[in-house]
Amino acid sequence: MRITDITAYQLDLPLAAPYRLSGGRLLFERLDSTIVRVDTDEGVHGWGEVCPWGASYLPMHGRGVRAAMDELAPALLGLDPRRLDLLDRVMATTLPGHLYARAAIDAACWDILGRVAGLPVVELLGGRDVERVPVASSVPTATPEAMLAGVRAYRARGYRVHSVKIGSGVAEDVARIEALAADAQPDETIFYDVNRAWLPHVAITVMNAVRHLPVWFEQPCETLEECAVVRSATSQPISLDEAITTPQDLLRARDLRAGEIVNIKVGRVGGLSRARRLRDLALELGLGVLVEDTGGTILADTAAAHLASTVPARSLIGTWSCQELITVEVAPGQGARVNDGTMCAPELPGLGVEVDPDALGAPAARYSARAASGRAARAT
Ligand code: MG
Repeated sequence: MRITDITAYQLDLPLAAPYRLSGGRLLFERLDSTIVRVDTDEGVHGWGEVCPWGASYLPMHGRGVRAAMDELAPALLGLDPRRLDLLDRVMATTLPGHLYARAAIDAACWDILGRVAGLPVVELLGGRDVERVPVASSVPTATPEAMLAGVRAYRARGYRVHSVKIGSGVAEDVARIEALAADAQPDETIFYDVNRAWLPHVAITVMNAVRHLPVWFEQPCETLEECAVVRSATSQPISLDEAITTPQDLLRARDLRAGEIVNIKVGRVGGLSRARRLRDLALELGLGVLVEDTGGTILADTAAAHLASTVPARSLIGTWSCQELITVEVAPGQGARVNDGTMCAPELPGLGVEVDPDALGAPAARYSARAASGRAARAT
């Protein structure tokens, strides 16, 4: 089986409402997604997506994905899409770094492998351990009253894990945490996602002010070293998110004792193949695990749900769903839909999502083995 065509589509994903995080310093109103279709000489195809959460959340952006595709795609034409690790090595040799730009092609090839094998991707990634994955809510930075209303709205829809975005400063953040703590339910997990906003002295002050509460904090500061300083001076667990991209990052976090939980975002770390390695390492290190993506349509949500479903229940905290925050639908009724605050990876072969071509418009680029003699070329 050979890859004959790789087609990239650009898709604007307006958010249903403006979204602030990191204490309000970062504002998002639309996402720039890239959806990729990989075709083969045996008539099987696969779909993948990578969607940075805007350009300011992480060192990744939509136009960067598509620029990288110009380098990556021609090198993959003619290769067997089922050989995922080989494809990852070819991409690493062709374009070092830029891990996030590999994620959509990687997902599409997992989709192909599953379709050929007749198995859902969750089974290929190690097997389903959790039927219904808890979905973390996503409550943007706002006033304590607005954030309380946000948590209650998610709670009413069955959510029991809440990711609450803070990071303004000591007084504001303590007020938010105390308002939500007074309303928290016994069966809920609430964690406060700072998205790198605090300096260590602010983090230490806030966390120690609420040290009596059964909560934890995600990515309080920019770097692993800063998070480790905070962790050494506080008592609550820390989840590491933006600071973890590679297995080496996770080992460094372990050496620094920077946290007890890791949030593996499939797009950020370079796709399902690389996220799978981080999952394995995180489990070996005894970490709590979230598996999410950085954004996107039901396609990205579903890919993350497949991997999240392989994490043993005692280690799995949950996933996150972008599907309810955007106004675009590319595969109506399909994929891992949120139901009662949980998601279930589909039983269908592959990822279990067949994207509606009419939802995508004209391709942004097409790379075809048939487009030119000799080295395959960009066709559009
Ligand atoms: Mg986070």
